[in-house]
Amino acid sequence: MTKDFLKSYQEKRRFNRTPEPAGSGRAPSAQPIFVIQKHLASHLHYDFRLEVDGVLKSWAVPKGPSTDPKDKRLAVPTEDHPLEYAGFEGVIPEGEYGAGAVMVWDTGPYRNLTEKKGVPMPLAEALEHGHAKVWLEGRKLRGGYALTRFKRAPDENWLLVKTDDEEADPSRNVVKNEPNSVLTGRSLEEIARGEG
Ligand code: MN
Repeated sequence: MTKDFLKSYQEKRRFNRTPEPAGSGRAPSAQPIFVIQKHLASHLHYDFRLEVDGVLKSWAVPKGPSTDPKDKRLAVPTEDHPLEYAGFEGVIPEGEYGAGAVMVWDTGPYRNLTEKKGVPMPLAEALEHGHAKVWLEGRKLRGGYALTRFKRAPDENWLLVKTDDEEADPSRNVVKNEPNSVLTGRSLEEIARGEG
């Protein structure tokens, strides 16, 4: 696999200092996956990533996802990450890019639901067009989510919004009530202290 996809990711990081994966190119999953990583960098945010054509397309969501279709969550695109990153939980050392604790807050397979006039549209194309709809099958998040670009580069901004379907639930407040790792059960503080 060509590494050009990950040039921006690799240029930002020193792999002799950070425990993050360099991304040698893992084979795509049989069913594509999503991951949401809770990341306490200079500001707490949630990195929403979707496996698309061999990389993880990524957005930083400052407030995290919601299960309430009325919540519109700002999602700022970040560089593509390698597929191996989906399993990364740990601490990026002081002085390195994105320094701070990273948690696998939720993960699972997803399906692309994007259509145009009833015809399924590949996700890469949907993202280029600035609108995509996916069905998440995570441990915490389930159901449809829409990603919509509302501001173009250089300061590209998107919105991440829960679709109004049977998995919508305005009362859950998942970010507050389900704060821990789905991989290890650890809190961000425990990860930061290297416990567990
Ligand atoms: Mn981040």
